[in-house]
Amino acid sequence: MNTVADPLRASAATALPAADDFPILARPVHGRRLAYLDNGATTQKPNAVIEAEARFYRESNANIHRGVHWLSQHATELYDAARVTVQRFIGAARADEIVFTRGTTEAINLVANTWGRKTLKAGDEILITTLEHHSNIVPWQMLCEQTGAVLKVAPVNDAGEVEQDGFDALLGERTRLVAITHVSNALGTVNPVARMVERAHAVGAVVLVDGAQAVAHQAVDVQALGCDFYVFSGHKLYGPTGIGALYGRARLLAEMPPWHGGGDMIRTVSFERSTYAEAPQRFEAGTPNIAGAVGLAAAIDYVQGLGMDTIVAHEHALLEHATAALTAIPGLRMVGTAADKIGILSFVIEHIHPHDLGTILDSEGVAIRAGHHCAMPLMTRFGIPGTARASLAVYNNETDIAALVAAIEKAQTLFG
Ligand code: PLP
Repeated sequence: MNTVADPLRASAATALPAADDFPILARPVHGRRLAYLDNGATTQKPNAVIEAEARFYRESNANIHRGVHWLSQHATELYDAARVTVQRFIGAARADEIVFTRGTTEAINLVANTWGRKTLKAGDEILITTLEHHSNIVPWQMLCEQTGAVLKVAPVNDAGEVEQDGFDALLGERTRLVAITHVSNALGTVNPVARMVERAHAVGAVVLVDGAQAVAHQAVDVQALGCDFYVFSGHKLYGPTGIGALYGRARLLAEMPPWHGGGDMIRTVSFERSTYAEAPQRFEAGTPNIAGAVGLAAAIDYVQGLGMDTIVAHEHALLEHATAALTAIPGLRMVGTAADKIGILSFVIEHIHPHDLGTILDSEGVAIRAGHHCAMPLMTRFGIPGTARASLAVYNNETDIAALVAAIEKAQTLFG
């Protein structure tokens, strides 16, 4: 029996990414080793995704749903297979419940402009939470302006958790839609989504869950959550930019009018009247991001190859390690200390503006985000203009956290 330690086999056993899976992580920044801790904004891409997209263009590129020729049929098969991969990844019952979009933002706008415009009337209520990203605020404000509906906002406590009593108190017979994030991009708080869905359904509301910050960090099963819509972006899941998905219950999608008009979303067109295709084609006007869908499927395969349990365990351990390391720094205050939290460390440091901190960290090769994180109302709730945010992914390790801590200490020395 061969007992010699084999590093490749060791990495297969733990199923963490191999060192060279993410080529960009090997490029120095400002002459330093890159510690990429801006994964909440976007994740880096493994070779498997880069190659899948390149291979599509090299070997399979053609427009879909239109061609009688072999290549078009082949591209269509790849696109349809990508839809099935997404369906299985989030536990949807049917592939036609998955609509490809450009990402989370477009998916939310799609629901607002189709389901929302058709359903809402003056005086109806939309309930969101203080945790929301602007993408899950602004489309609903626009919808309220168009329909006369009213936006209600559930409060958060000092730990950055949605106050469940406050949430429940805002639900009522006028609540038609509840739109909540699964995980806060600014604080990492995980919402008790299944509970919130249950309460919302009890008053007859439809529930949309923003999964942008969830899908890369924990297993998602839309049927177990019970939500009616679930949205996410490929690029936060190690996939390409410009592709994402909307899950919608078949019954709801079937009743929704189209939003964008054009090719591929119609059944028949005449100058008098056009009729529309079934979902999901009805919501995918024009040539979609075919290579992006193929890349997204490759990203999902990659994540599943690592195993979601491995990802959760690794990121949880790293979050605990990083939280202990950061809270030990004098003058540093964590913002967001929810009991259920993943992947995100938001903090402020006495006498150093988050943007100044971000700039100094950058010069040390440490990439974080500084500012309001597209969650201005949440920052207002905490009485701060913004935070510094380090956000984790499966390829981060304790060396990245050590670089973060050393760079913060350097900034403190400079601002002395
Ligand atoms: N919702 C959340 C919670 C996010 O973190 C983001 C992006 O940061 C979005 C929505 C918007 O995602 P995208 O810009 O990919 O549409």
